[in-house]
Amino acid sequence: MALKPTLVGACIGAAVTGGVAWLWSWVFRRTPSTDGEVEDRVLFFPAVGQAPCQSVLRATQCRRLNCTHGHSPDHPLAVLLDALRETQHTLDIAIYTFSYMFIKEEVLAAQRRGAHVRVLVDLEQVSAGGCAVAELFKAGILVRQGPEDFYLHHKFAIIDGKTLVNGSLNWSRAGVMGNHENVLISSRPHLVNAFQEEFDRMWEMFDPSKR
Ligand SMILES: [Zn+2]
Repeated sequence: MALKPTLVGACIGAAVTGGVAWLWSWVFRRTPSTDGEVEDRVLFFPAVGQAPCQSVLRATQCRRLNCTHGHSPDHPLAVLLDALRETQHTLDIAIYTFSYMFIKEEVLAAQRRGAHVRVLVDLEQVSAGGCAVAELFKAGILVRQGPEDFYLHHKFAIIDGKTLVNGSLNWSRAGVMGNHENVLISSRPHLVNAFQEEFDRMWEMFDPSKR
């Protein structure tokens, strides 16, 4: 039986459209790679739904009966902490405000695992209440402060020179729990490399021995 030309045309059209859609998604949305890289993730804060359980944030099992907090590993804060937890070799951080306990714990844990951690922070924010940077410094993490006349207003981190975490989010409780913020996690080399070059440039610029 011969198929009607209109039906054949519709099928071809659907196939072409599907192919283009697949190609579009292949080009513009990374699929998870097999060499340890993470795929691009876009996170928005505050998250909708339940506040996350501390077990999710610390990647442990919740042992509380009738725990009323959220346990989804896709909570944006859990995803952000997971990315930091992947650190093996280097962790470079340029951040305006750094006071959030769970992120501080992950940075300290990265250093304990042997990672080389560098933190660039705003000069004024170091003396703000609750700033985590003094504790990082005491733990042996390298810290440098931004300029005196302007803010160091970045909010980014580079993990192992391969993964970029960047967005509007300050690493504070208000940032992760209240403010409307965004974070992009990407392993696209041209993005990671551009931020790494800028971090290295600022690290030299704010070397206290050269001031
Ligand atoms: Zn729980």
